[in-house]
Amino acid sequence: MKEIGHWINGKVVSGTSGRFADVFNPATGEVQARVALASKAELDAATADAAAAQVKWGATNPQRRARVMMEMVRLLNRDMDKLAEALSSEHGKTIPDAKGDIQRGLEVIEFCIGAPHLLKGEFTDSAGPGIDMYSMRQPIGVAAGITPFNFPAMIPMWKMGPALACGNAFILKPSERAPTVPMMLAALMQEAGLPDGVLQVINGDKESVDAILDNPMISGIGFVGSTPIAEYIYGRGCSNGKRVQCFGGAKNHMIIMPDADLDQAADALVGAGYGAAGERCMAISVALPVGQKTADALIEKLIPRIEKLKVGPYTAGNDVDYGPVVTAAAKANILKLVESGVAQGAKLVVDGRDFHLQGYEDGFFVGPHLFDHVTTDMDIYKKEIFGPVLSTVRCETYEQALGYAMDHEYGNGTAIYTRDGDTARDFANRINVGMIGINVPIPVPLAYHTFGGWKKSSFGDLNQHGPDSFRFYTRTKTITSRWPSGIKEGAALNFKQMD
Ligand code: NAD
Repeated sequence: MKEIGHWINGKVVSGTSGRFADVFNPATGEVQARVALASKAELDAATADAAAAQVKWGATNPQRRARVMMEMVRLLNRDMDKLAEALSSEHGKTIPDAKGDIQRGLEVIEFCIGAPHLLKGEFTDSAGPGIDMYSMRQPIGVAAGITPFNFPAMIPMWKMGPALACGNAFILKPSERAPTVPMMLAALMQEAGLPDGVLQVINGDKESVDAILDNPMISGIGFVGSTPIAEYIYGRGCSNGKRVQCFGGAKNHMIIMPDADLDQAADALVGAGYGAAGERCMAISVALPVGQKTADALIEKLIPRIEKLKVGPYTAGNDVDYGPVVTAAAKANILKLVESGVAQGAKLVVDGRDFHLQGYEDGFFVGPHLFDHVTTDMDIYKKEIFGPVLSTVRCETYEQALGYAMDHEYGNGTAIYTRDGDTARDFANRINVGMIGINVPIPVPLAYHTFGGWKKSSFGDLNQHGPDSFRFYTRTKTITSRWPSGIKEGAALNFKQMD
C-alpha cells in the first residue's frame, strides 16, 4: 500500500504518530494509499524548523522571492498533466476540471510575481519640521493554511503563494482526503528555488489542526472548509492571539428574472449546479425563478439538459461531465438529504437516486437530482448539500427572491440572470453576499481581485488572494524619523501637532 508522509525541511518524511487515514479512489471505491496523520509533536518540530528557516527567507529581497514564484509558474505548466492525473484520482473530478483547479492556483502564484510592487510601503516627506514618516510591510513570521478536499491544488496555492511571497514560512495542512497534489506542489516549490524548511506540508486531522491553533510560533492561519470547522478554528485561533481568516460553506442562489435568456440561464444552472458533482463552494444550489411562467419554462429546459449529463470516472476522458463525490460518507449524506426533500414535500423532477454505473458499482457516484417546489423551511434548502442536487424555489416577485437570498445564513456567491440593467444594478447593490454574478453563474474573482463571502461563509475581515492576501500575510510598521540637523525645540510635553 502506498504511504503518503509529510514534506519537512525539503524532503518526504514518514509519519511517526502511527496514525493513518485511508485515501480513496472515489471512482472505484478502493483505498489507493494511506496518509500519515501528524501528532502535535511532529507539527511543533516542523514549525520550529520553519521559524528558523523564515529568518533568512524573510530577509531575502522581494524580487528574489518573486523569481521563485515565476519559476513555479513554469513548473506548474510543465507538470500540468501529472498534477491533474493525481488530483483526479483522489478527488474524482474530470481531468479538464482538475486542470482548471490547478490553473486557478497558478494564477495566484502568477499574481505573487508582483510582490516587489505589492510590498512597497508608503512615504511622507517632511511630515513635520525635518520629519519623515514611512510605513513598511513585514512578514508575520510563520503562517499556516488548513485546506479542504474540493480544490486540492487551487486553495493550497491561494494560501502558500502570498504567504511565501511576503517572506513568511508556511505550514500547509491539506485535506487528508486529497493529500498527494499538495505534496507535489511542495516539491515543485523546492525545484523553483524555495529554501528548505520555508514550506512544510504536514498531513493530518484534528490533532494537527489543534496543534496549529495552539502553537505560539504560528502568527496567522488561513482556513477554508465547512462552516462549523471554520467557526471553531476562528474562535480558538483568535483567542490564542493569532490573525485568522476562515472561509466556510455556501448555499448559492441564482435569481432568474422573466426577461432572462432562459436557454442561457438553464445552461448556466447545469454547469454551476452539477460541475464537479456540486462539490464547489461557488456551485449554484438554489434556483429562484421569478413568476410561475418563468419557473415552468425553466424547469422544462432544465430537465432534458440534466437527464443528458454523463456521470463517470475521470479516466473516461471527454465522455464524462462530472465524476464521483469524494467519499462513501459524502454520498450517503447527499442521498439522505434527497430523501428528506422528498419526505418534506418537494417535487423531485429529476431523480438520480437509482444511478448505477456498470463496472464501478463500488464508486461514490451520485446521479443528478432536480427539485421543484422547494420551500425555505426544508432541509434541502437550509443545508449545504455539496452534491449534484439543484433546488428550485418558485418566487412571485423579484423582492421575494432577493429576500430569500438575503435571509439565508450563507453568503458566499450569488447570481442573477436578467436583461434589465436596473434590476441587475439593484441586485448588486443590495444583496448581502460576497461575490456576485450578473449573467455569470460562478463569479469566482480572478487572482488580482479578492475572494470571500459574507455571513456564515466567512470569518475575519480580509479576503483571499488579490491585494488583501498581501495585507493578511504582512504586518505594517510605521516609522517617524528626524535626524538631528539643528532643530532644537527643548522638551515637548504636549501632544505634538505637525503644523
Ligand atoms: P472540512 O471542514 O471537513 O475540512 C476542511 C479542513 O479542516 C481539512 O483540512 C480537515 O482536515 C480539517 N478538519 C476537519 N474536521 C476538523 C475538526 N473537527 N477539527 C479541526 N480540523 C478539522 O471541509 P471539506 O469537506 O474538506 O470541504 C468542503 C467544505 O469546504 C464545504 O463546506 C465547502 O463549501 C467549503 N469550501 C469553502 C470555500 C470558500 O472559499 N468559502 C472554498 C472551498 C470549499
